[in-house]
Amino acid sequence: VIAAARGQGKGSVVTSLLDGKATAAVVKAQVAAQALSLLQAGQPAGLAVIQVGTDPASTVYVRNKRRVCEELQLRSFAFDLPADIEESALLHKIEELNADPSVHGILVQLPLPRHIRTELVVDTIAPHKDVDGFHPVNAGKLALGRASGFVPCTPAGVVRILDHHGVSISGRRAVIVGRSNIVGKPMATLLLQRDATVTVAHSKTRDLPELLRSADLVVAAAGSPELIRGAWLQPDAVVVDVGIHRTADRGLVGDVAFSEAAPVASWITPVPGGVGPMTIAMLVNNTVLAATRALSATQRASTPGEA
Ligand code: NDP
Repeated sequence: VIAAARGQGKGSVVTSLLDGKATAAVVKAQVAAQALSLLQAGQPAGLAVIQVGTDPASTVYVRNKRRVCEELQLRSFAFDLPADIEESALLHKIEELNADPSVHGILVQLPLPRHIRTELVVDTIAPHKDVDGFHPVNAGKLALGRASGFVPCTPAGVVRILDHHGVSISGRRAVIVGRSNIVGKPMATLLLQRDATVTVAHSKTRDLPELLRSADLVVAAAGSPELIRGAWLQPDAVVVDVGIHRTADRGLVGDVAFSEAAPVASWITPVPGGVGPMTIAMLVNNTVLAATRALSATQRASTPGEA
């Protein structure tokens, strides 16, 4: 744990960094061990990553995902499809991958070009290969508290960082800023499952600063650079910043004004090096989980007396 004393002038408040890089390294080491066992069992875990078009940000994300797969001995299947590909051709590719036993996880990098219906694409991925956890079956399982689905990587990564640093969740008054299907909503479900009292804020929320002052756990996922100011936070709050924005003058910043928030918070994620590294770590974690489940299903099917 990298602990940074930042409490100057704030009485007893001493802030520690929630180190996403270190947490991701631990998760990746566990994934590497599982990937090796799968390799030795003759069923290497395989992740198919589909990119449609050449959006520069997507290209960076996709490259990183493929690189981490290779680092951890997962097989990476790369599909770089043209921006003007017909929707039906993309769906056909996904169906092929659904049927391919060497592919355990399928990820379609978002956003997609406008002529392609994202919902239809997400719905076409077989739920047992949906390692992003976006398919309605997996969203439903998460909502119902069933362990057999896949949890979206970013909110799962947030919980993992908190656990890694020994930050309790139970009983906290959590405010999540953002209600997207990929971050805010699943984050709310996960924190509720861990016995936090959860409020979800969004663009129509009245008086966000006042609401945040009541929170001892804040998860910022609004997609708005440095929206959340230090003066909006309760002293000692735990602050998790999911936002990532590239600015011309300040480099990468989050949804939280870090230099103001750090002296107030008890724990805070940096940007970069906070939630970002966790998203890929949880993706490969979900992929080895998918491969392990597939291997168990094959073994069950080949055991006499079982189907
Ligand atoms: P979306 O744009 O899909 O959702 C943003 C949410 O924030 C919406 O619910 C919106 O409300 C709400 N919101 C926007 N402005 C305000 C405001 N001023 N006050 C309160 N609520 C507000 O974003 P995502 O959930 O996809 O991503 C959020 C951020 O996280 C982005 O910066 C993104 O880049 C980053 N991200 C980072 C990842 C990582 O690996 N670190 C992974 C995924 C995302 P409404 O619903 O009313 O419009």
